[in-house]
Amino acid sequence: MAATGDRLESARSRAIAAIDHYAAEMRHVEGSRLGEGLIATRALKDRVEAVFAEGLRRFDQSGEYAADGAIDLVAWLRSKCKLSGGAAAERVGIARQLQHLPQTSKAFATGELGYQHVAVLARTAEHVGAGAVRKAEASLLALADTMDPGQFTGVAKNFEHRIDAQAALAEANRAHQRRYLTISEPLDGIVRIDGLLDAEAGALVRNAVNASLPPAKDDDRTPGQRRADRLVELCQPRAFGSADGAGPRPHLIIRASVETLLGTPDAPGGELDGGTIVPAETVRRIACDAAISRIIGKGELDAEITRASRSTPAATRRALAARDRGCVAEHCNRPAQWTDSHHVKHWIDQGPTTMSNLILLCRPHHRKVHEGGWDLQRLATGRWALIRPTPRSRSA
Ligand SMILES: [Zn+2]
Ligand SMILES: [Zn+2]
Repeated sequence: MAATGDRLESARSRAIAAIDHYAAEMRHVEGSRLGEGLIATRALKDRVEAVFAEGLRRFDQSGEYAADGAIDLVAWLRSKCKLSGGAAAERVGIARQLQHLPQTSKAFATGELGYQHVAVLARTAEHVGAGAVRKAEASLLALADTMDPGQFTGVAKNFEHRIDAQAALAEANRAHQRRYLTISEPLDGIVRIDGLLDAEAGALVRNAVNASLPPAKDDDRTPGQRRADRLVELCQPRAFGSADGAGPRPHLIIRASVETLLGTPDAPGGELDGGTIVPAETVRRIACDAAISRIIGKGELDAEITRASRSTPAATRRALAARDRGCVAEHCNRPAQWTDSHHVKHWIDQGPTTMSNLILLCRPHHRKVHEGGWDLQRLATGRWALIRPTPRSRSA
């Protein structure tokens, strides 16, 4: 053991000497060569991550971290390797999945595949099982080669959705469950805003916050300051539109196939502006109140559905606000301007966009009905009860 330790120590000294040498050479590089140097530096870091992942896999199997008093490997990485909880969990996920993904493992070890792409593949394997990823490994790796990690995440999410729509929905629901927002008390005149949103809500907020005029010539605000100002503007009451909610709907562009809208079992997910993939049920909810801007599908069906009147006309919307007053869910008191008009029978299933088939639901209740799978039941009071799905009818 001592001899092995000595050999590792001497290899480490030589690696450090090599890095010092590399750093000295980098300092002499300028212009376009400097860009190449930066790319090469990232690639070096990824090679080291591959070495780390391989070692971590064996360390995980040995259970040696327990000898240091750590309750699990993530805790050990946090305290010994100074990683954040998220960074530690990501590396443990990679170490555990790579042994089941031989091509990914090889490409990572040889530097053909970068760390962030590997992280995306490992996460996908965690969600749908390494076996499913292994079957498509070659084509996923070919795509990884042409995309940045953000684009590749979109591809991986779509792949997950194809593999297991139900699992993707469950994951989206988990992501939704993690949402929070905190707004601190002012400290030294500063209020800190911090939070997490699911993909759809995030896209909505990002679109709203980014949708401002381009900076004027003498606008010296940073992009971050402009976004902050925009957020404050949005919170001023005038921006909410008319009191009955008949004003313009929040703008969200989504691409979806006819199969996705119909809820066909192996249909792909929908794609938000920016490439994020969302589950089919989310597409059906968003489409319920007409934010779908592009539907891809087979010829005639496509034309027929594009013609269908799915957006609630302003007059109908006003009549709905007068009839329902707000969200119709039992015990809910959210006002009309915070509601969507929900098709009791979805328009894609030939439900008409008329008063008899429309009710107002606030966003949380609308989401429960679609993604949550809750049933609606009309009550004598004119309100609607939401019936929790039985575990048998929906596994998500
Ligand atoms: Zn709906
Ligand atoms: Zn409600």
